[in-house]
Amino acid sequence: MIEKAEAVVLKTLNHGDTSKIITLYSREVGRLKLIAKGVRSPKSKSMGLFQPTRHIQVIYYAKATSELQMFKSGELIDGFFGLEEDFDRLTLAQVVVELLDRTVEDEETHPRLFQLLVDTLARLSNKHVSSAEAYWFFHVHLLRELGFRPHVGHCSSCQEPLVHEGFLGGHHPHPECIKCHEATQHTVRISGEVIKTIQYLLAEPWASDERPDLNSSDRRGLWDFLWNYTFYHIEPTRHMRSLKVLRQLYG
Ligand SMILES: [Zn+2]
Repeated sequence: MIEKAEAVVLKTLNHGDTSKIITLYSREVGRLKLIAKGVRSPKSKSMGLFQPTRHIQVIYYAKATSELQMFKSGELIDGFFGLEEDFDRLTLAQVVVELLDRTVEDEETHPRLFQLLVDTLARLSNKHVSSAEAYWFFHVHLLRELGFRPHVGHCSSCQEPLVHEGFLGGHHPHPECIKCHEATQHTVRISGEVIKTIQYLLAEPWASDERPDLNSSDRRGLWDFLWNYTFYHIEPTRHMRSLKVLRQLYG
């Protein structure tokens, strides 16, 4: 059966002499894996389509019994070419697609997540938008969509409100207050400003004006919290390749 999908390229793998296996995240069916025969030959018109982060439309032959579908043709919807002019933005976009690749395993439709992905890549490629904020917004909403919304308003042990600070450790899935938290070498402290920022990112639509302004130590705290929280809840994210580059930029 011939199918059509709107999708973002997550990763590609060379196959044989001229083919590629492409992993996509699509609006219609979620994760989608295609084999594109002959696309690496110099005559192929589809070669430029399959860079990770590209937003494309594909037509493919679908077989219900197969994990790998056959690519027929495709066209570019948005190349997000602004990413190529800025190494930081390109790195964040690569983290976005790799994070999605590591967290969304099944072929399951999730149109809100697809829209979040496309909107985030558009924000990252727009130099008038703060790239860190576009990234943070994506990360907390991805966690929420996957069922791992961070609960930062209250201590997860005694339920007292966390106002001035919270602690996330190696053994506990959500932040605790200073009285309940047993410090480990993995303990991450988050300030009241970081707590407010996470709540704000989760509660407000994108581009609301009153977002908190974080100083550099709070920004670092937010990065540490997001990644430690994500590693705890979604194990495969620990081994992301693009994180190494991200650490060089923000570590
Ligand atoms: Zn407590």
